[in-house]
Amino acid sequence: MIVIKTEPELELMRASARILKETFDEVEKNVRPGVTTGELDAIAEDYIRSNDGIPAFKGYQGFPATICSSINEQVVHGIPGPRKLEEGDIVGVDMGVIHKEFYSDATRTYAVGEVSDEARRLMRVTKEALDLGIDKARPGNHLSDISHAVQKHAESHGYSVVKVLVGHGIGRRMHEEPQIPNFGPPGQGPILKPGMVLALEPMVNVGGSNVLTLDDNWTFVTVDGKLSCHFEDTVAVTDDGPEILTR
Ligand code: MG
Repeated sequence: MIVIKTEPELELMRASARILKETFDEVEKNVRPGVTTGELDAIAEDYIRSNDGIPAFKGYQGFPATICSSINEQVVHGIPGPRKLEEGDIVGVDMGVIHKEFYSDATRTYAVGEVSDEARRLMRVTKEALDLGIDKARPGNHLSDISHAVQKHAESHGYSVVKVLVGHGIGRRMHEEPQIPNFGPPGQGPILKPGMVLALEPMVNVGGSNVLTLDDNWTFVTVDGKLSCHFEDTVAVTDDGPEILTR
């Protein structure tokens, strides 16, 4: 069942998302060559906890940190630690906040210093794919209209989308129904209604779509070792169209 949020519930989700957005602003200021992903994690946790939030990922199914930090060929769920970011890396930072029992979830991928043209193009196309997906989050559309828009844009640039990981509904739980694949034909799945809140999160690869997990049982990487990029926003379906809570 897809939970429909009431206006007061949406107001709490906006507040949760506002804390998350501000946390990204803090993290972004500190993304530079030489910083460790563990330092970024500490900055995020401090900011969330001092602003009436709880890091949503820390302890979630045993995940040990506030952020997921995924560098270059890492797709998602990288564990922050002593690794230093290097000039030319791209790093996906995925975070969630709980505020007054409501979750928000978002991801930004940052360039560390100067990055290759390929990396820059991949980041641009992934962000555009997310935006095109968000634009389909309107009452009366089918859920898979979002999926199709994401896949079409990524593949039209010669990239592939990750298929084994999906977006999701969000609210009082981080992962609610529906699951939202980043691929598929349009016009399928549930009809979108006002009050649905969705975490849309395309993961786009320069090479093939296949991924595997490392021995830490968390970090997903591309099988071919090529770059991957992830952007995510928490989006409410409203009568006026998509409302992006995490921007
Ligand atoms: Mg998510």
